[in-house]
Amino acid sequence: MAHTEIPYKIYLSENEIPRYWYNVRADMKNKPAPLLNPQTGEKLKQQDLEHIFCSELVKQELDNDTPQVEIPQEIRDFYKMYRPSPTVRAYCLEKALDTPAHIYYKFEGNNTSGSHKLNSAIAQAFYAKKQGLKGLATETGAGQWGTALSMSCAYLGLDCRVYMVKVSYEQKPARKEVMRTYGATVIPSPSNTTEIGIKINKEHPGTTGSLGCAISEAVDFVSHHDGYRYALGSVLNQVMLHQSIIGLEAKSALDKYSVVPDVIIGCAGGGSNLGGLIAPFMGEKIRGEKDYRIIAVEPASCPSFTRGVYAYDFCDTGRVCPLAKMYTLGSQFIPSANHAGGLRFHGMSPVLSQLYHDGLMEAVSVEQTKVFEAAELFCRTEGILPAPESSHAIRCAIDEALKCKETGEEKNILFGLTGTGYFDLTAYQKFNDGEMNDIIPTDEDIARSVALLPKVQ
Ligand SMILES: *Cc1c(COP(=O)(O)O)cnc(C)c1O
Repeated sequence: MAHTEIPYKIYLSENEIPRYWYNVRADMKNKPAPLLNPQTGEKLKQQDLEHIFCSELVKQELDNDTPQVEIPQEIRDFYKMYRPSPTVRAYCLEKALDTPAHIYYKFEGNNTSGSHKLNSAIAQAFYAKKQGLKGLATETGAGQWGTALSMSCAYLGLDCRVYMVKVSYEQKPARKEVMRTYGATVIPSPSNTTEIGIKINKEHPGTTGSLGCAISEAVDFVSHHDGYRYALGSVLNQVMLHQSIIGLEAKSALDKYSVVPDVIIGCAGGGSNLGGLIAPFMGEKIRGEKDYRIIAVEPASCPSFTRGVYAYDFCDTGRVCPLAKMYTLGSQFIPSANHAGGLRFHGMSPVLSQLYHDGLMEAVSVEQTKVFEAAELFCRTEGILPAPESSHAIRCAIDEALKCKETGEEKNILFGLTGTGYFDLTAYQKFNDGEMNDIIPTDEDIARSVALLPKVQ
């Protein structure tokens, strides 16, 4: 098929919004390891998790067998406000790179929260509402997840309480106002509103907080307040399930033009957008129907896949959450002040960790100045101001396209453009002023936090 036959944007119609999420775990030969109780080391069951998450979500979390999970009509109706999202052929970027490769991206930044996180936020809020709960509590780092959950709770009339990492709260006051406009209560973390926050503040006076610490506070809040549950924007199996909508749509769009991606690329913080984008492709790969190269891209400052260990670890600093087996840098690892806030998590989705461990996908790490160079080129050619997180995937897609230029291969490259960067202009300012640096942890830094991993067999 001639290039020009493929439109710049491949839209699907509202009726083509998938009716089912796809659960890749059903096809995995080696299932992701189960969550464990941090006190007893025992496998967590439905009833153990029901005081943290609402029941339907616990069911989804533990379900390794059902391949297709029906998307409730109410969620599909909400999806219609901003989905299907476009799959774009990056003609202008290809031209600038003078590459024979065909580059496609799935754009998830077309909603006010500015990222793919809304796909899972609305699902989590919907099930909470259905269960008759009063509200949800959560943490947010860069702010995209907190905004997505605030939006979803506003839509459904639920209370929303967001523990925002103090440094972001102070540096991104605009983000906070978006959440407050959606009706959320935003609390800088560590705060004095939870036992754990008080403890952390006492032990580390003046701390500007971390994602792991804000998670502990949100979980602490729900365990002391009836009618509230906790919501998490990444890492969990349920989140991977909801995000499969990204890959299902991208695949339908490409199928319309008989385009088969050779390489699929996504940035990886906790793994949700990548897990979602690759889901249907990975299913085919596991079932032996097709082969794809799949690449996770992470920041060199927080390299869970490429330099972490595959082990059971806590998801939070306060060590109140269940233990998950994942690629991790250790729950006490504090990444340097990288500007891609959404990629600063010490661990990784247990689903993706298992797939990576089984050699079904690759991972690379990239330095942030290189990432911003890619963001700049992308912005100038394709017109979209990308989120720093998304720009990790752009960097890798450009590198792959440049390799094609050397070899003359006409590969199809698909990457996830997870969001926009309007709230990241301080980072862009640093880059534009030539003041951005690349801080990479030493082997000793990583060894130190990995030495503190819980001892679980
Ligand atoms: C949160 C976020 C990410 C990283 O999270 P994943 O769970 O790894 O997808 C990537 N891009 C944007 C824009 C985000 O907000």
